[in-house]
Amino acid sequence: MIDICLPGTGGMKPLPNRFLTGLWAEHKGKALLIDCGEGMQIALAKAGLSLARLDTLFITHFHADHIAGLPGLLLSAGNYGKSSPLVIYAPKGGREIIQRLCCICPELPFDVSVHEISGSGTIFRNDLEISFMPVRHRIDCYCYSITERRPPVFSPAKADKLGVPLNMRSVLHKGQSIEVNGSIITPEMVTEGERQPLKITYITDTVYFEDLAAFAADSDLLISEGMYGEDEYIPKMTEKGHMVFSQSAEIAAHSHSKELWLTHFSPALTAPEEHLEAAKAIFENTLAGIDGIKKTIS
Ligand SMILES: [Zn+2]
Ligand SMILES: [Zn+2]
Repeated sequence: MIDICLPGTGGMKPLPNRFLTGLWAEHKGKALLIDCGEGMQIALAKAGLSLARLDTLFITHFHADHIAGLPGLLLSAGNYGKSSPLVIYAPKGGREIIQRLCCICPELPFDVSVHEISGSGTIFRNDLEISFMPVRHRIDCYCYSITERRPPVFSPAKADKLGVPLNMRSVLHKGQSIEVNGSIITPEMVTEGERQPLKITYITDTVYFEDLAAFAADSDLLISEGMYGEDEYIPKMTEKGHMVFSQSAEIAAHSHSKELWLTHFSPALTAPEEHLEAAKAIFENTLAGIDGIKKTIS
């Protein structure tokens, strides 16, 4: 089970009624955040999310609307009582950029470490797999997906049939084998049915390209950028390294995702929900993201 929230849905600059884009994902009491534009700590507070639970921060790229909120976020986290370490993953050069940004908050009550990423890969944090892949923007930029692998379902009927005593079942639950009447019982012998992993994909600040759909394959929720709703903006947005709504809908359709939330709207787009026609024609289950929108993926 993963609790999701979009604290903000804007691109380029924060507005009085729209914070900058980001993704908050909570799992087993710890949270990860993707991106940290200006005012992110206010967006999180407004959405009722506790910075004390923030454990890992992922940065897509070093444009101000995705990173400029970091010093304020760190200072606020300290004020909210965070004492456990914060781990940051960011593109190459991130260590120096973050060090310089944070010269105004040198005394935090928790450790901050920065890991630089390159190419494609997977990071394991708090029983989640976070995969990343370079996208095509004006500078080095990455998309991320969050996956929770789920163990198969325990079958009491199978356990009964094999004569597994009740007091030994917890050992099997932990993934260890046991011996019953001289026979070895493995965890696989008392489970049934593969459970699909849960997957959330976050794509922003990129032009459209085919590999994005493969990266987002089978997402329960795809969060993807749309600067504008109409296709007439495609040439201009491609030039600037961005997408429009219908291009994210193409990714959702080709990746067989279940749901699409659009984000990273242009400040000029005041009512994104009124521009969904082209996207919905391609992928019906499309929603224009709203600041503070939440969902539990299970
Ligand atoms: Zn941006
Ligand atoms: Zn950018």
